[in-house]
Amino acid sequence: MGPGFFGKILWINLTEEKFKEESLSEEHYRQYLGGYGLAVKLIYENMSAKVDPLSPDSLFGFFPGLLTGTPAPFSGRYMVAGKSPLTSTWGDANSGGTFGPEIKKCGYDAILFKGAADKPKYISIIEDRKEILDASDIWGLDIIEAELKLKEKHGKFIKTAGIGRAGEEISRISGIANDKGRIAARAGLGAIMGAKKLKTLVLKGNKKIEIHNRDKFLDLVKIYNKSSTHREPSKFIRSILKNVPNLAKTIRRFRIGFAGPPKMIREIYKSFGTCVANTISAETNDSPIKNWGGIGTYDYPFKKSKNLSAINIQNYKIRDYGCFSCPVQCGGILKIPEINLEETHLPEYETCCSFGALLLNDDLISIFEINELCNRAAIDTISTGATIAFAIECFENGILTLDDTNGLELTWGNSKAIVELVKMIINREGIGDILADGSNIAAKKIGKGSEKFAITSLGSEIAMHNPRIFPSLAFTYNYDPTPGRHTAASIDFIDIGPINKFQKGFKLPRGWKRNEKKKQEGQKLVTSFHQVLSSVGLCLFSTLFGPYPFIDLINNFTGWDINVDELITIGLRIQTLRQAFTLREEIDIANNKLPGRVTGHPPDKRGPTKGISVEYEDFYRGFCREMGWNPKNGFPLKKTLKDLDLEFVIKDLY
Ligand code: SF4
Repeated sequence: MGPGFFGKILWINLTEEKFKEESLSEEHYRQYLGGYGLAVKLIYENMSAKVDPLSPDSLFGFFPGLLTGTPAPFSGRYMVAGKSPLTSTWGDANSGGTFGPEIKKCGYDAILFKGAADKPKYISIIEDRKEILDASDIWGLDIIEAELKLKEKHGKFIKTAGIGRAGEEISRISGIANDKGRIAARAGLGAIMGAKKLKTLVLKGNKKIEIHNRDKFLDLVKIYNKSSTHREPSKFIRSILKNVPNLAKTIRRFRIGFAGPPKMIREIYKSFGTCVANTISAETNDSPIKNWGGIGTYDYPFKKSKNLSAINIQNYKIRDYGCFSCPVQCGGILKIPEINLEETHLPEYETCCSFGALLLNDDLISIFEINELCNRAAIDTISTGATIAFAIECFENGILTLDDTNGLELTWGNSKAIVELVKMIINREGIGDILADGSNIAAKKIGKGSEKFAITSLGSEIAMHNPRIFPSLAFTYNYDPTPGRHTAASIDFIDIGPINKFQKGFKLPRGWKRNEKKKQEGQKLVTSFHQVLSSVGLCLFSTLFGPYPFIDLINNFTGWDINVDELITIGLRIQTLRQAFTLREEIDIANNKLPGRVTGHPPDKRGPTKGISVEYEDFYRGFCREMGWNPKNGFPLKKTLKDLDLEFVIKDLY
């Protein structure tokens, strides 16, 4: 195969303990790129409909992006994909760190699994030697303990990605973790590994990634990175961050967005990471408060949310941390003396919110402890926090009692009880066993009217941003083939960054903010572009920092002559196939409906989102028309499938 990709994927049959390499044509890459794109193509074609995601027939795999492993800025991500054990829809999730490039260095563009082992196993691929090995001595260890033990055995240069306790317990909200706490968290894909008794992948590659026009490619990287040099946040930025209530009032009064100049955003991300949003999002009501039933300025006012402020968190930072090839490095390593934690990852905004504002918890140390527990167990913090919010509301309403909770007082903001409940969920102890599969399944088991407290979309807990601030999030939460995600290409949300500046030629329609039809056209573009970005392996934050040599990097890497239009077609193909996967599972996406609390039905009577309700059904119908899908049921039209070279889907949907 020519430069840019290896043209080779690896199948691992865990039942038969066999490896099989498969060659892919260049057409596969030109049509699907890598990452999510290659994932949905390979899994759709090789897996039948209605397979139990936890059965041996369920397929899943690891997919680095097309550019992953190269020095292209932000390109180090890998994706895991399969049928979601949580929602039975298409399921995918991604993670940064340093694991993705190692898949490429092993000479593969994807590693896929079928079958199931009869006892715990791990995969070792070290410099061409492929083995399926006994994992009995690492089964039961958390992901950091397992990594350290495997390094003793295989050397310190290996890279690992695997499940912790939550995946071993086949929790449907478990993920897959690498680099001591970077997690491909959503969609419950850790449960697939647990069901297959597959603990970890251990990789150490020796293959070189060929680049078509190496000099030009490296020049592009150099120029971009030069423009990305970092300055410490100025006193001005710090004073703004300390004065969040006034900033929030200004944002609300003048209806300005959260976006800022790329240089300033870079400074803020580098220094504080995503938790810079902790207080501002609580003050503007972007953060869901009290299981989506509260109002930030009243139920979780600044005197509480400021305890979780980025500046407070930064006091614990001992060094920066970032993913492979990232010029921003938005992560950090913290030391928390209060709980004798020598090193732990900086918690993300989503984690801080799902265990903070959502539960009315302002105990910062408990957030650090929970983040570490969840990282080690490789469990999704959004789903775990939201499931605890559900449990607290059940307790408040007498549906769960002290007898059910082993004496835990599940009250709002009771950080000690929250920490204990996290441990019980991870280990499936007591009520934790019922909650370990997320709030929707728990509500079905508990009954007694508890369903109304499970704030989910098609069974997935909803991410920590409010559609009343970013209206099209309601559309993506409800209708994306992977529901409940804030990372699923909502046009209002992606507009946080200067998306029109990212790639020359890519432009949202003029006036889209005021014209519904143009907004639907823009949503189609954003949906497509988002798929392409992920399939190339780029971190979504890359769109926040201004112009990026996106197409130039792809073409100089592969030798192709791709343009914006072709990229948009690729993105539409990928999203249409993700949609087809979910529809083939007979999931009625078009008639899904979000809980009223999420969309302001009824609207708040006071506070920043007073009087706001979000309607999203008509927007979806218009979006379907733009996509060439049937607006009544979301099915891609036959003509659309043909135009996108997806004829093989027609027999499944018609
Ligand atoms: S911006 Fe943050 S999450 Fe994205 S690649 Fe860089 S370090 Fe990783």
